[in-house]
This record gives sequence, structure tokens and C-alpha cells, in this order.
Amino acid sequence: MNWKETLQHEYADKLRLEWNVPLAKYTTFHIGGLAECLISARSSKEVQLVLQFCHKYQVELHILGNGSNLLVDDRGIRGIVLYIGRRMQEITVNGTQIVADAGARMALVARAAAEAGLTGLEFSFGIPGTIGGGVIMNAGAYGGELSQVVTKVEAFDAEGNFHVLEGDALCFGYRKSTLKTHGYIVTKVYLECKPGDKEAIQQLMADLGAQRRGKQPLEYPSAGSTFKRPEGYFAGQLIDQAGLKGYTVGGAQVSEKHAGFIINKGGATSRDVRTLIGYIKTAVSEKFGVELEPEYVIWDYDSRA
Ligand SMILES: Cc1cc2nc3c(=O)[nH]c(=O)nc-3n(C[C@H](O)[C@H](O)[C@H](O)COP(=O)(O)OP(=O)(O)OC[C@H]3O[C@@H](n4cnc5c(N)ncnc54)[C@H](O)[C@@H]3O)c2cc1C
Repeated sequence: MNWKETLQHEYADKLRLEWNVPLAKYTTFHIGGLAECLISARSSKEVQLVLQFCHKYQVELHILGNGSNLLVDDRGIRGIVLYIGRRMQEITVNGTQIVADAGARMALVARAAAEAGLTGLEFSFGIPGTIGGGVIMNAGAYGGELSQVVTKVEAFDAEGNFHVLEGDALCFGYRKSTLKTHGYIVTKVYLECKPGDKEAIQQLMADLGAQRRGKQPLEYPSAGSTFKRPEGYFAGQLIDQAGLKGYTVGGAQVSEKHAGFIINKGGATSRDVRTLIGYIKTAVSEKFGVELEPEYVIWDYDSRA
């Protein structure tokens, strides 16, 4: 039996398996071909089972959160995509501590904090990812970042061994962490907030949301900022000053509203976006001598090829 037959035969009653699933439906860019197999995790036990299976049968594995920082190959993805999202999203508030399953959306975690009169997560309200996807890259906005509130993370390594990482062991930096560097798979996140004024917290969340809507092209599919912030500059400003606002390749366009975003104007392919990224990088490098580094995680059809 090959791995697919084994998986179907031995795990169909234990795991939620789906075959040939269009990943465009699972990414905020609305781009991406078929996942050979998509498994929606319902518990950390299921996450462990999938990791052990992939390790044993040497199957390629990709972890999917809300797909809001992802550019997926038009040809799709070989192996298994393990979705830690909608089916794994419990949030519990105990005093000033919040414990969230990795699949919980950051907006929902921030809302739970606000409801409980806890401050510290207002910045994350408009970030459209899961807390698991957020913590591995230390998501941040408006001067806040998850490193300021995350105290502990439960995760597995690629072989399915369980780990608890706390404090300095998480090694947070700008859009990075130990979790990302070492490829941990996050299942639970512990956050510590401070008591605050519920109305003021909700007001700040509403204000930051309005700022986002005013500046970012939220009316189009995208995967957020195209590039990391280069030291001493703003990527969007450089792209704008290079005259690239509105520059289009196929269905992908440098947003007219915010040059730091590439938007899907309709029917954009992964190839369109990659070509546009290459064009922007060259133009900015030639004009300003600044090397831009993409912020998206890029999934190739066969990462072993
Ligand atoms: C309109 C828009 C605005 C945005 N604004 C911001 C912003 O202000 N600040 C900011 O930081 N980001 C922003 N982003 C980017 C994105 O929302 C964040 O990077 C978010 O943290 C990604 O989470 P996700 O669940 O969508 O991860 P995905 O896109 O699904 O995955 C991204 C990476 O994380 C990995 N991953 C996901 N879940 C897990 C897990 N449980 N364990 C281990 N690895 C995992 C994936 O394998 C992949 O490598 C924005 C995106 C959009 C579309």
C-alpha cells in the first residue's frame, strides 16, 4: 500500500480526511491549487497522530492556519496539509490569563480579552490569522506584538514529540521566534493580559480597525504586507516612490491604496504574484539599493524537488 491507501485504510475513522482540496478556498489571497490530502485537526491528539504518520511514512507535511500569510503554488501541494483552524479554536479566560487553541482566530482571542475587560491584545484585532500562525511569526501591528503577551506555548516537533516552551525559550524577534526557526507545530497558546477598562479597550479596537480600513485594500483578496520592513525604511513607501502603485501582472496588482500590498484583482495566479514580487524587488533595488525580503510564506508544489 502507498501512504494514501494506508492513511485512508487505517485512519479514515480517526481523522477528518479530504482528498484533492482546492487551497484557494483556504487562503485570503484566493490563490492555490489542490492539496493532495487536507486533514482538519480537531484536537492536539489528532495533530500528533498526523505528525507521527508523516514521520513514519516520510510524507511531506504543511501546516495551514487561516492562510493569511501564504502564497500557494498554482499546481497545488504534494502530501498532507494539516489544517489547524476552525475545528480547533477553544478560548478560555481565567482571571488575567487567556488560553487559546492554536486554531482560534486572533480577532476572537482579542474579542474574548475585551469582553473580560483585559487589555494588551487590541493591536491584534485586525490581523486575520490564527493565534498559532500569529505566534510562530510574532505577528504585530500598531506598536504591539504577540511577544508582549504570550507566556507559554504547547507544541509538537516534526516527529510528534510534545514540548512546552516558555519565556526566553520562545526567542521572539521581528516576525520570528524559535517556533518558526525549529519548525514546531503549535497547538495551544497562553497569554497574560492586564486588567483594563472594557469600553476603552473596545474603543481602541474600533479605532485601529477604522485605521486599517482607511489605509489597507481590505476590499480585495491579499496576503497582507508583501515584504518585511527593511531596516530604516517602509517597504510600501519605497514601492510607491519607485512608481509601482497600480503596476499589474495578470490578475495581481500593486495596490493603488497601499503600495505595500499586492492584491488579487480577479483570477491572479501564484505565478502572477511571484513575477510581480520579482519585478518590485529589482526596481526597488536598482532605484534605492534596498533589498526587499518577501513576508509571505511560499508553498511550492514539491518542497523536496
Ligand atoms: C489584510 C491583511 C492584513 C494583515 N495584517 C497583518 C499585521 O498587521 N501584522 C502581521 O503581523 N501580519 C498581518 N497579516 C499577515 C497574517 O495575518 C499573519 O502573518 C498571521 O499571523 C498569519 O496567520 P495564519 O493563521 O493565517 O497563518 P497561515 O497563513 O495559515 O500560515 C503562515 C505560516 O504559519 C505556519 N502556521 C500556521 N499555523 C501554525 C501552527 N498552528 N503551528 C505552526 N505553524 C503554523 C504555516 O505553516 C505557515 O508557514 C495580514 C494579512 C492580511 C491578509
